Amino acid sequence: MAGVIFDLDGVLVDSAEFHYRAWQALADRIGVPFDRQANEALRGVDRMNSLLLLLGPHAVRFSEAEKEAFCAEKNAQYVLLIADITPAGLLPGAGELLTALRAAGIPAAVASSSKNARPVVASLGIESLLTAIVDGSEVKRAKPDPELFLLAAARLGQAPAQCVVVEDAQAGVEAGLAGGMRVIGIGDPARVGAAQRVVHGTDEISVAMIRGLLEDGVTV
Ligand SMILES: [Mg+2]
Repeated sequence: MAGVIFDLDGVLVDSAEFHYRAWQALADRIGVPFDRQANEALRGVDRMNSLLLLLGPHAVRFSEAEKEAFCAEKNAQYVLLIADITPAGLLPGAGELLTALRAAGIPAAVASSSKNARPVVASLGIESLLTAIVDGSEVKRAKPDPELFLLAAARLGQAPAQCVVVEDAQAGVEAGLAGGMRVIGIGDPARVGAAQRVVHGTDEISVAMIRGLLEDGVTV
């Protein structure tokens, strides 16, 4: 038995660009310095904590109500931007891997901190290849807590030790490991190096790699 749990942003789709543009628009409007480099710290971080990182020392200038309004403003801008996502927005190898998993009889889930995960999945046209979708509105504790991934494993009908998590964020890698899952990290080893395997992109992941990781898990 096996299951694969995919993070969404940076793994199946590059919605990080849309998040960046929405945060940049907010920062510009309220006069807080922000750029692509500062945006790197927001990977895998939930909305309010992203705002606090964006505001930095400026956070004290704003009330809690204003911060909530800023989060709503950023999200409204993001939702406008992601309406343009199409199946062409799938990252290289993502559609092929989901199709190969389906052919191999290995169920797949998306587990994303984003409360917009469902509309993004629908726009990408991959709903029929997924057994479960879990989003940030369904759990109390954000990554690196394993709650999101444990819920996804349960929806796949798999024990955590039989699941492979695919993640591009440090907090997500930590969440998968904390949940007792095997983890494939995508990107810079400085960020995802704690994972059992690190690859450059989703197109380097195969069904054989996933099976191999789970077999390793039995012998560890
Ligand atoms: Mg991600």
